Amino acid sequence: MSKYKETVNTGASEVSTVNTPSASPKDSPSSSARPAAITAPADADSTPKGPSIWDKAKYLVLRAVAAAAVAAHKAFDPVKKKLKTIKGGKAIYRPGGKAKEYALFATNIFKGCPGPHCLYCYLFKGKMAKTLGTCLVSLKACFKSERSAVTAFFNELFGGNGGTVRPELLEHGIFFTFISDPGLPQTFPLFAALIAEAVKLHVPIQFLTKRTAWLDSEIFQDLLTIPEVKDYLVIGLTLTGRDDMEPGASPNSERILALRRIHDLGFRCFASVEPVILTSKSLAIVQECAGFVDLFRVGLLAGGEFKIADLRKFADDLAAIPEKPRIYLKDGLVKRLKRTRESYGSNFVDADYRPWNHD
Ligand code: SF4
Repeated sequence: MSKYKETVNTGASEVSTVNTPSASPKDSPSSSARPAAITAPADADSTPKGPSIWDKAKYLVLRAVAAAAVAAHKAFDPVKKKLKTIKGGKAIYRPGGKAKEYALFATNIFKGCPGPHCLYCYLFKGKMAKTLGTCLVSLKACFKSERSAVTAFFNELFGGNGGTVRPELLEHGIFFTFISDPGLPQTFPLFAALIAEAVKLHVPIQFLTKRTAWLDSEIFQDLLTIPEVKDYLVIGLTLTGRDDMEPGASPNSERILALRRIHDLGFRCFASVEPVILTSKSLAIVQECAGFVDLFRVGLLAGGEFKIADLRKFADDLAAIPEKPRIYLKDGLVKRLKRTRESYGSNFVDADYRPWNHD
């Protein structure tokens, strides 16, 4: 059983539990005019770095480990008499609480985020801060090495299903990841190795990050050579419009450019518009990206002091975007609005909408 159970309104690296002094949700717009563009990029020196040539070597080793694990399962995976539903494996588990809105299955292999961390990050607050709130990115304690983590992932992916992937994972896919960022130089080589072999097995993967440098890495170039990758890998970037609250992440403007590149490469992509801190910023983001982002997931800053009238205006303005982008309003926001998602239009989807590029 996984020792981690998310209970917050979060995407991969999105965990928001508090309001902060620099967030002023009362600033929500009252006008439907398009708000100002998002914050300008930070200066180049502070831009997070991507994977190095050594990270590529690590990726290749881990990809070989992954391929060997897959081959072993295909050759001999004893059929269990009764295949139990995955609840909590070491590598693959069912998220709890509000994280379920993002995915029914997820993988957590690393913990920690190098920082400086986002001011609203749940990992560094509350009860979980002692175990998860660290700037040291490391494997979860249950893994002896990155190789053993890769092997555990594929063991759980097959899990006694007689040499084929467990059907619920083929159907619902796996989310990367809730307690770190999969786009870090420390984490990307391993996650890319998992992606490389998982997509070949037709397992949908959702990858959510606040970093962009991995897009220019040789590792990503290698992933692009896998024919299935564009059908089964869905890439998401978090967009809040608040660089001032996310000092260790790539600037929001770079994340938007990254989403456009990902779209132009032929991937399905999504934006995690969460946490909404200022509705004006979040509205501007959706308006700016509506033409090339396949799905927006919109969730409020937990504990944010939003006026109901401002939230209703926000939702109405989202519904009025001419491109009719696909939008998922998270449960907490729907509850505050006291309206159904469908009442905003057929482009407002439910949690079970599957963003990948195949049926
Ligand atoms: S990028 Fe790191 S610090 Fe920011 S929310 Fe994600 S895990 Fe937390």
